[in-house]
Amino acid sequence: MDIELSAEDLSFREEVRQFFSDNEYPAGEDYMTWRTQWFEKARQKGGWDVPKWPADFGGPGWTPTQHYIWEQETARASLPFDLPFGVGMLAPILMAYGNEEQQHRFLPDIRSRKVNWCQGYSEAGAGSDLANVKTKAVLSDDGTYYMVNGSKMWTTAAHMADWIFCLTRTDASGIKQKGITFLLFPMQQDGVEVKPIITLGGSHSVNSVYFTDVKVPVENRIGEEGKGWTYAKGLLQHERTGLAGLSGSLVALEKLKEQARSVTRGNGTLMDDPGYRAKVAELEIDLMAAEYTELRSLASASTGAAPGPESSILKLKGTEIQQRIQKLTVEAGGIYSAAWGSKPIGLPFARGGMGGYLASRAFTIYGGASEVQRDVIAKNVLGLKRSSK
Ligand SMILES: Cc1cc2nc3c(=O)[nH]c(=O)nc-3n(C[C@H](O)[C@H](O)[C@H](O)COP(=O)(O)OP(=O)(O)OC[C@H]3O[C@@H](n4cnc5c(N)ncnc54)[C@H](O)[C@@H]3O)c2cc1C
Repeated sequence: MDIELSAEDLSFREEVRQFFSDNEYPAGEDYMTWRTQWFEKARQKGGWDVPKWPADFGGPGWTPTQHYIWEQETARASLPFDLPFGVGMLAPILMAYGNEEQQHRFLPDIRSRKVNWCQGYSEAGAGSDLANVKTKAVLSDDGTYYMVNGSKMWTTAAHMADWIFCLTRTDASGIKQKGITFLLFPMQQDGVEVKPIITLGGSHSVNSVYFTDVKVPVENRIGEEGKGWTYAKGLLQHERTGLAGLSGSLVALEKLKEQARSVTRGNGTLMDDPGYRAKVAELEIDLMAAEYTELRSLASASTGAAPGPESSILKLKGTEIQQRIQKLTVEAGGIYSAAWGSKPIGLPFARGGMGGYLASRAFTIYGGASEVQRDVIAKNVLGLKRSSK
């Protein structure tokens, strides 16, 4: 595919840059008010608040190159905080499998970011092997509601979420991929309890969530009972594509080089050190290769195709690249990277390096661990057959 930017693309890039600079956060203003206004203005631009949504649902209907430009520019701009669960993950499922009533009911509040969602997939014993979900949903005798009991694990932002989309078990008699049902329900109700999990970097973003006799009306079920696995798999591919973060890595790599140039090494800087330089070069080459895969994925998305197994390549390479950047940042900071706390010691960039590095350990776990992505690539991209041994 041709990635030379045409005159129209260059002018689109200018328009995007202008929009970002005209709508920067004005220091001191109320953040949430600015955030709401930012999304409203982006919407008025013609669907810029939901760049990946199809035009039929109010998205901008951009070309792959325009999507690429947008991704590149968003990495450099400071945009309002936006969790991926509603707009990026649940919305495509509602569009593909939800009925019209559900689309009208949920999509507007997802789009305006009025309602925060969280993803209730993983459980203890059902992470990589997600089809093993045990959280039970039992249909009432009159067929009007499900009674949900069980628990979810590692639920990001459950403590801030208004609603959850949840995989539940409605039938345990057949193969485990059958009998999974996809339900939506509010978090603020009796029977839903959220407990924080503090992760390695010291932060609270994930939780355990417990359900005791939670009543969920049948109209909150997506698609058919027992077919949730099909919908869940579709969502995972959207999730994986979004986790690669390549444009963010391009910006982070530039920052890394700048930081390494600020570190004295012998008569020069760390960037003159052949060993360190080689690692940076290797990283840059891998990042370029991943970018081309992303462009291929964008090209197929522009024809309306759902993300395919290439989303596993992007997830795998993209998250490993993010980790390598964190690792090289810690390496550049040397002993100062070990400092923990509010005051920087030694090199100014080193503080926070270790926190970022530790937090990045999770990148190759969530959204499907790297080993699992390699399995998907072996099977669906390379066409390898599993050994019978
Ligand atoms: C920070 C963070 C945020 C998360 N947010 C969410 C969220 O919002 N919602 C949600 O539902 N889940 C979330 N998760 C859960 C995440 O999706 C799971 O942690 C992930 O799928 C791995 O499952 P597990 O933790 O049960 O590990 P396991 O599946 O037990 O895996 C343990 C190890 O075994 C390896 N392994 C497993 N199966 C295979 C195999 N077939 N072949 C080779 N190796 C294998 C894995 O790669 C891993 O190294 C989050 C996790 C983290 C760490």
